[in-house]
Order: sequence, then structure tokens, then C-alpha cells
Amino acid sequence: MNFYKKDDVLQSILKDVLDQETFAWADRELTEFGELCGGEFDERAAYTDRDGQPKLLKYDKYGNDQSFIWLNEGYRKTVEETYNRGIVGYLYKDIPTLGKKGNYVYSFAQGYLLSQTEPGFYCPVTLTMAAAYLIDNYASQNLKVKYMPHLASTGETELFEGATFLTERQGGSDVGANETKAVLEADGTYRLYGEKYFASNAGACGVATVLARTEGAPEGTKGLSLFLVPWRKEGGSLNGLSVRRLKDKLGVRAVPSAEVEFNGAEAYLIGEKEQGFYYMMEALNLSRICNAVASVGIMRRAYTEAVSYAAERDAFGQKIINYPMVQDSLVRMAVKLEAETVSVFELARIYDEWCEGREIPSEEKDGLLRMLIALLKSETAEQAIHFAHEAIEMHGGNGYIEDFVTPRLLRDAQVLTVWEGTANILGLEVLRLIKKYNMDDLFLQLMEKEIAALSFYDKAMIECADQALVLLKNEFAELKLMNEFEKTRNIKELQKKMVTLFESVLLLKRAENGDEKREITATIYIKDKLLPNLGEQKQSWSLEEGLKILGIKEPVKR
Ligand SMILES: Cc1cc2nc3c(=O)[nH]c(=O)nc-3n(C[C@H](O)[C@H](O)[C@H](O)COP(=O)(O)OP(=O)(O)OC[C@H]3O[C@@H](n4cnc5c(N)ncnc54)[C@H](O)[C@@H]3O)c2cc1C
Repeated sequence: MNFYKKDDVLQSILKDVLDQETFAWADRELTEFGELCGGEFDERAAYTDRDGQPKLLKYDKYGNDQSFIWLNEGYRKTVEETYNRGIVGYLYKDIPTLGKKGNYVYSFAQGYLLSQTEPGFYCPVTLTMAAAYLIDNYASQNLKVKYMPHLASTGETELFEGATFLTERQGGSDVGANETKAVLEADGTYRLYGEKYFASNAGACGVATVLARTEGAPEGTKGLSLFLVPWRKEGGSLNGLSVRRLKDKLGVRAVPSAEVEFNGAEAYLIGEKEQGFYYMMEALNLSRICNAVASVGIMRRAYTEAVSYAAERDAFGQKIINYPMVQDSLVRMAVKLEAETVSVFELARIYDEWCEGREIPSEEKDGLLRMLIALLKSETAEQAIHFAHEAIEMHGGNGYIEDFVTPRLLRDAQVLTVWEGTANILGLEVLRLIKKYNMDDLFLQLMEKEIAALSFYDKAMIECADQALVLLKNEFAELKLMNEFEKTRNIKELQKKMVTLFESVLLLKRAENGDEKREITATIYIKDKLLPNLGEQKQSWSLEEGLKILGIKEPVKR
């Protein structure tokens, strides 16, 4: 199956966001890539997960520590074929046939297709993207010249994948507890000592970006500096580091996640000393968008599998897709999937804009971007798990069996709530943005403006969005009166309401072109998700209408 060609929603989003020339090029490229993702890559992903997982070959035949990470051939082919299509490279250099750089929207479209195959393939790409971001924005000219061509390679030079190492044994959320030391030698080079406890892409990366504390630096996040650490020295030997062991993981088994020890690794300071945490937080925001992209990828795959199984499976003399309960589940999935896909690509569009205007600092733009990232990262990660569960349910017993992709979807989805900040940590981020920059006001103003501009044919739906906005305003006013303890208890519930309003408005806007399917999607979303927030009974929506989204005019008969 071609994952791109089957996806009208993705195609329509790209058509809206990309200029005509770029869309025509992207459409061709993604058609090829979608075929690979739904075909060869998918077969390799199943093999990698079951039989071809990365292996640590710790010692060579003489007993020397070589910390070699073995990756199966298919995996390595997928890596090469993916990077050669510019998933990272075209963010930094011209697309030859177009004579201009690509953008994140295009890169995320690739990431979304790749994640439908295996988020464990996409994870290293996102790490490379984050490392490239940090080096391009903050490293010295010398480091940039030396490493950026490798990080942005599309085949013309050796590819260096990236990695970002923050987490230590004593804490991932509490990055300020980091203990890894950076010691300045007499010759002016830094050497790292310490360990990183969750280090994804270890051994597969050419360079890692690592947080460490220089001697005499203050405690906490303020004392952290960022370093570029090549995995190997010029001659090919390990750069004063070793892999202690690979993690035996529930999912995303394609990516090697390791415990890494630094025993004097040569390291190069990126940017200013003791600014490392702030640089890393910027890269983390990018990684959080990648996480949301991977989440919608899993949602899409779960939905695809659920629909096709329902159309094939017989029970009690009929295809199960004929049963109203099955139809109801599929329609709800289709509606939420569209809402989430549209939202994540809107975020990607905003991110591209933000990157272009980066030189002109704006607290408002930074804050709003961070807020949307925190909201959508949390929501999509949760939904990925929910969708994987729904797909298993739709398959019955088969859904639980590893011959089908469904168990892997659930195992892989589960990491998405943890990676790049847990739901609680993102809740704290939202509270911080409210406290420091009154970002709730800005969010509400944005929604107010968008709702006022809506021209959806059914005014009752716009009225619902308006009412939800009023309620949200009141709830924020109440939140501000609470003490810190109560605020943290309540913020996640409020976040959900913000997401629902944001997604409702986007869907209403998207349906203004009069497309029937889009109108039905927006209407069902509002009746199903927004009305309960208004304290109203769930208004039932017509299943007959919903089936039009699935492309089913009448129930399928045997
Ligand atoms: C497969 C995998 C790969 C990974 N790869 C990398 C990598 O490449 N690089 C890297 O740096 N890290 C990596 N990580 C680590 C990951 O980023 C951390 O696991 C994550 O940030 C959570 O940190 P933790 O595991 O220490 O959990 P903890 O921080 O101990 O959190 C445990 C629980 O406590 C909650 N909690 C913590 N503080 C608060 C608070 N103040 N208020 C409320 N609740 C709180 C959390 O939400 C969570 O539910 C990886 C993890 C996994 C599973």
C-alpha cells in the first residue's frame, strides 16, 4: 500500500501550505516515499522488531572494548534511503531540482509516513535533526563547517547521524540533577567524565550533543553547558567512551538506546558556557513536534489497519464493518485523526514561520509556539496509544498477535508519552508559560480572532466554539486564583479543553471551502468533543453522514 497516495488529508494539507512548485515536487517525492514506507520499509521494520534488533558487540576478539552496535542490513538501507531523500538535509541546503531549501512541513510529511512504518526508524532522524539544529544555530563556524555537511548529507558525503544525551540515572525530567563533568585540559580541549542513562542512537551516531557541567559551574540547569562529542576519533577508534549495555525495551526496538559512559571523551563546547540547557530546550521543542508527528503517524497506521480489517472480517454472516458499533468507532477515529493531523501540520507551518523570523526575538511568538507544542505533544501521544488500542480491539484476538502490526503499534506508541517530556512535565511547561508570559491570554485572543473570522455554513457550530471560549476564559480566571498545588492538579484537564477548542476551530476553518467531507468531520468533532465540554449532553451525530467520511455510501454487504 502507498501510505501517501491513500492519504487525502495529508495531500490536501500540503497543497494548502506549500507553494505550487514545491507541492508538485513534494507530491512526486512523497509518492515514491509512501510506496517504500508501505512496502519494503514496512517489511524491514517487522524484521527489525522481531529478529533484527540492534546488538551490542562489546568486545573484539582480543578482548578490547569496541562497544560496536550491530544494525541489520535492512535497517541500514532504510536509514540511507531516508536521509538521501533530504529528511534532514533539505532543511539546510537546496533541493537540486528546485534550487531552494526545503522546510519542516515537507520533512514532517516524510516523518509522518515513516512513523506509520516504524517510529524506531524515525527516532534517529529526529535526533539528527535536533543535533543539526543545535550545531547550526549555536556552534562555532569551525564546528559548523566540519560537521554540518555530514549531518545534512543526502549521499554526497559520509552521513553522521546525531544524538542528544541529557538523561542520567538520577533523572530525566530533572535535568538539573545532571552530574556528567566537563574538564578543561591545559591544551584548551574539554574532556567528559560520567554516564548517560538513556542514550538513543548510541553507536549509530557520528556525533552526539551532550549536556555536562564544567568545573565550578553552579548546580541545577544554570550550570549546564552543551558539548559536541564525536563518537569516534579521526582514525576510527572510540572517542573515550563506551556503551555499557543496550536497553531491553517494550517498543521502538529498531533504535539502539544505551547506557553510555564517558571516560575522557574529547568534547567541543557549543555556544556559550552554561547556556547549554537553554539551547537544549530549544532543540527539545523541535523534538516535541517530531514526537507529535510520530504520534499522528501511529494513529494513521492504526486507523488504516482497523478499516481494512473491518472490511474483510466476517462475523455472524456479515462483514464486521456493517455493524453500527464498528462504524461508530471507525468514524470517531477518522474524525479525531483528521483533527490531529491538521493541528500538527498547522504547528509545523507555524514552526517554519518561527524559524524564518528567528532573528527578530518575540516573547509572544516564542511563548505561543511553546504552548502549542506542549498541548499537541501531550494530546497526540495519548491518542497514539488510544488508537493502537482501538486497532487491536477491531482485530479481536488477531490484534494481539505479533503476525499483525497492531501489537507493535501499541508497544511503540507507549514511549511517545515519555519521550521529550512526560505529560506532567508538559503540564508544568504550560503553567510556566501562563505565569511568566500570560500565554493563556494570548491563546484566548488568538482563538477569539479565529472564531470571529469563521464563516462555516452552520452557525450553530460557530456558536459552540464561542461558548467554549467563554467557558475557557472563566476557567483560566479561576485557575489564576488557585494556589500552586491546585494549579498543578488542574492544568492537564484545562489543556485538554484548549486542544479541543484549537482543533475545533481548525476543522471549521478547513471546511469553509464547502467540501462535504470536511463539513461532516468538523460537525461530528464539535458534537462529539466540544459539546460535552459545554456541559451539554452528547448530541448524537448521524452515522449515515459519518460513513461518508469513510467513503462508504451504504453498508457493505457480503
Ligand atoms: C526508549 C527511550 C529512549 C530514550 N532516549 C533518550 C535519549 O536519547 N536522550 C535522553 O536524554 N533521554 C532519553 N530517554 C529518557 C527520557 O527522556 C526520560 O525517560 C524522560 O524524560 C523521563 O525521565 P525519567 O525516566 O527520569 O522519569 P522521571 O523524571 O523520574 O519521572 C517519573 C514520573 O514522575 C513524574 N514527574 C517527575 N517530576 C515531576 C513533577 N515535578 N511534577 C509531577 N510529576 C513529575 C513524571 O511525569 C513521570 O511520570 C529515553 C527514554 C526511553 C524510554
